[in-house]
Amino acid sequence: MNFPPITKNIASWQVRPCMVDYAKTCAEFSWDAVRAELAGLPDGGGLNLAHEAVDRHASGPRARHLALRWLGKDGSVRDLTYADMAQGSARFANVLRSLGVGKGERVFALMGRVPELYFAALGTLKNVSVFCPLFSQFGPEPVWQRLSRGDAKVLVTTKALYEKKVSTLRERLPKLQFILLADAEDDLDAGVRSLPKLMSAASDQFVISPTSPEDMALLHFTSGTTGMPKGAVHVHQAALTHFATGRYVLDLHPDDVFWCTADPGWVTGTSYGIFAPLLHGVTNLVDEADFDAERWYRLLQDQKVTVWYTAPTALRRLMRIPGEPRTQYDLSHLRLIHSVGEPLNPEAVVWGQQALGLPVHDNWWQTETGGIMIANYAAMDIRPGSMGKPLPGIEAAIVKHDEQGLEVIQESNVEGELALRPGWPSMFRAYLHDEARYAKCFVDGWYLSGDLAKRDADGYFWFVGRADDIIKTSGHMVGPFEVESALMEHPAVAEAGVIGKPEPLIGQLVKAFVVVKAGHAADDALCNELIGFGRKRLGPAVAPKEIAFVESLPKTRSGKIMRRLLKARELGLPEGDLSTLEND
Ligand code: ATP
Ligand code: MG
Repeated sequence: MNFPPITKNIASWQVRPCMVDYAKTCAEFSWDAVRAELAGLPDGGGLNLAHEAVDRHASGPRARHLALRWLGKDGSVRDLTYADMAQGSARFANVLRSLGVGKGERVFALMGRVPELYFAALGTLKNVSVFCPLFSQFGPEPVWQRLSRGDAKVLVTTKALYEKKVSTLRERLPKLQFILLADAEDDLDAGVRSLPKLMSAASDQFVISPTSPEDMALLHFTSGTTGMPKGAVHVHQAALTHFATGRYVLDLHPDDVFWCTADPGWVTGTSYGIFAPLLHGVTNLVDEADFDAERWYRLLQDQKVTVWYTAPTALRRLMRIPGEPRTQYDLSHLRLIHSVGEPLNPEAVVWGQQALGLPVHDNWWQTETGGIMIANYAAMDIRPGSMGKPLPGIEAAIVKHDEQGLEVIQESNVEGELALRPGWPSMFRAYLHDEARYAKCFVDGWYLSGDLAKRDADGYFWFVGRADDIIKTSGHMVGPFEVESALMEHPAVAEAGVIGKPEPLIGQLVKAFVVVKAGHAADDALCNELIGFGRKRLGPAVAPKEIAFVESLPKTRSGKIMRRLLKARELGLPEGDLSTLEND
């Protein structure tokens, strides 16, 4: 279970990492200094995220640099420079202005990863309206839920999605005034308009109104892994976190080609699929197509991707395929691989090194934090299974709290709730329409993440589990991640999801749902072998006592294992909100 640390020898690297000395960077860091690196709107007009991401570059030496390379499902390619992005987003902002959409009003997008989505995101921010992206594969009810809870005034979508998911909802959405169809040549009616027509009539110049760093910029719904998705509100100065993490975590350099595989329907797909790379003026790749191992490897090779940001689910899918991709594809341009969204099994970190030639760097954050908070850094040794250390400028701690108050745990290797000191720029400013829930997240000067973790003596943080997923068995607290990672070390296991099943004698019994790799029989012999394997790795108290083989695990559309659903199904309980369930 103990994977040796992966050490870094930066002396031999061609590209010197942006951060070579973590402790020194932390000591010298200030958010004011980050702010000073951004331009700000002219004449003291404040700070606007879209201005920083595109206009700043479009009016400078990077105007002709490739900002976004879009790869269509059908093999087509569209290249957009920073000047093109500035113009496209200006047109969209002018469209909003012409429709009377103002500051703070909500502009939703429900569409695949097409260039219009990126113009809409940036144009909405230029208009100081609020951008709220929805994942295009949501069904009509989840779409309605979010549009109505988010007070949508405008929805940008496509003809097909409109017909399939939105047309029947209009009566139930009295506040929704305009639906803009990205691929319609003509208007359908006064409320359903052709976006290309509006865009071509609009000017490609737009002067951004004064924007306060605290003006609301984005509304993001959480993944719904633990229950009903919450609407997290973010402000324009989130740009500072995007910028800082782009430098210290993603290690972006001017000539980088960056690829974030997340969809903008989730916060990773905006913070890192749009803002961080553009804030750094690098080339951002957008692939319209969904996961496909062969396509992904080709993309990494052909586009000469240098920094790649992906997720554990995708990595586990790649791991199932036998072979060493680095011998089949030219991955020599790749410099850094990052992962977020779920615990990254140590097995996956090490697989990266063997199969791709680079270890995978895990990092941790949430919709609520707006940006990466804890990470493994390019120049820092990796301890496989650890999320790494807090971002410079971020104070993280392990705490215990109850009605009496909160205690910061000073000892190392003690489990508790992961907490952050509030005040970082991309911290969520509200749960939309739920003040009480927001207030509950803050106790005695700390933001409580709802995740359990521990910190080792050297300051590395280790994920234990979500507070809701922790299993109490025979007096032990077991995090499902530990058990899942141990099972993943067995050659027959592709993926595992672990829950606690009520059992009178021991409290909860550890039960694992296992997906086996192709070529392995899911039979009693394997079941017994895995139970024995678990006991050896984890000891009898923590090892799974029951194993069920399944074809697949229930996951959110953002790729997270929904353990609450495994549990509800096991116990015959109500399944709760399923709006983000994949393949429902
Ligand atoms: P909901 O809050 O609606 O239940 P969610 O928490 O899954 O959904 P997100 O904000 O997308 O919604 O996900 C953040 C959560 O994902 C974290 O709180 C944590 O539980 C998990 N997570 C993210 N990155 C990591 C990581 N590197 N290691 C372990 N867990 C992670
Ligand atoms: Mg959450």
